[in-house]
Amino acid sequence: MQKKYKIWIDEAGRGPWLGPVVACALTFNPGNLPSKELLSKINDSKKLSEKKREEIFEELVKLSLWKNPRVYFWVWIVDNYLIDQVNIKKANKEAMRRALVELLRKINPHPRILPNKEGIIDSILIDWNDNYIFDELDKKPVYVIWWDAKIIEIWAASIIAKVFRDKLIITYASIYPDLSLENHKWYWTKKHSDYLTWKNKVTWIHRITYKPVKKVLEQKEKLLLHICCWPDSTIPIVDLKDKYDLTCFWYDPNIHPKKEYDKRLKAFKKVCEIEQVPYIIGEYDIENFFTNTKWLENCPERWERCEKCYDMRLTRTSIEAKKLEIQYWTTTLTISPHKDEKKIFTLWEKLNLKDSLEFLKLDFKKNDWFKRSIEYTKKNKIYRQDYCGCVYSKN
Ligand code: SF4
Repeated sequence: MQKKYKIWIDEAGRGPWLGPVVACALTFNPGNLPSKELLSKINDSKKLSEKKREEIFEELVKLSLWKNPRVYFWVWIVDNYLIDQVNIKKANKEAMRRALVELLRKINPHPRILPNKEGIIDSILIDWNDNYIFDELDKKPVYVIWWDAKIIEIWAASIIAKVFRDKLIITYASIYPDLSLENHKWYWTKKHSDYLTWKNKVTWIHRITYKPVKKVLEQKEKLLLHICCWPDSTIPIVDLKDKYDLTCFWYDPNIHPKKEYDKRLKAFKKVCEIEQVPYIIGEYDIENFFTNTKWLENCPERWERCEKCYDMRLTRTSIEAKKLEIQYWTTTLTISPHKDEKKIFTLWEKLNLKDSLEFLKLDFKKNDWFKRSIEYTKKNKIYRQDYCGCVYSKN
């Protein structure tokens, strides 16, 4: 009598934010069933420990390799690119369809003839959630609620799909250690969510059409703007806040005297409030400035002392950017006609290489930024200084 196969198809990886969806089509050989001992071990994959799942998986794989296999199965993987192109429902259907077609080829001795017409399929069982119809078959699948069904083939297929997918995770986890994939198996966790803070953290395995990932990709890039040469920084704030998720960082550690520092800081805060931009205040670090510029007191502006001063400001800003996980940063140092932007850019690149942050090489001298900032401060009655900042420039 013709053997009839009962086929179950299941998937793993429908919900995760990244990676492929894995489908498994499975059937037991009706003429050579797996041992009772193995069948008694197979259970709902969620009720089994990871170790138990792996053991059953290994046994099922071995039995499928026998000359007269006791188990037939086929696994098909559809990657995140197709999931993003066609949506998860269609991608899942494709994974299941291919797993089923390949399985039928395996059990059907006449691959050119549709196996169901040969009468070798008893039934194709599929979760009611995946109520697909496969064009290759004239037999409609039976839709079952799998957690109620208590069918061993169902559990076996889901164990294979899950273990197969978990094995992929281990590979991806070694490529992306920061994602902690081994802990959350691609699903949402706080750690995964915390990791996805900026666009560049979206990897090539993320599903970019999934809401949380899409949200990250649609958000403005974060930018930390170092504020210097106040009040010429006003227009960079006005212009950059539309394009970026902007945070201003006030770090002018050597303004002399302290009264002048406070005056400039007050003006800076006023502009941030007008423009509704968040800001951070760095420390007043004049002692450090004096230590760094010892013996350079009499250097003219733009020379060695100023280089030390740029270095201090850039280094401190890059540390802040790193601490806040803001990938892009820049400085308004370049706006002043008295500053040497080439030296600033050279220092900048050195720091970026070290910290793997990305700089925006903006020369604020261009595009009338300086002229516009004078107009802005006049209009809004913002204090304007008449010297660079340190005691030497004042003298
Ligand atoms: S002149 Fe300006 S840039 Fe040069 S050290 Fe003084 S504050 Fe810094």
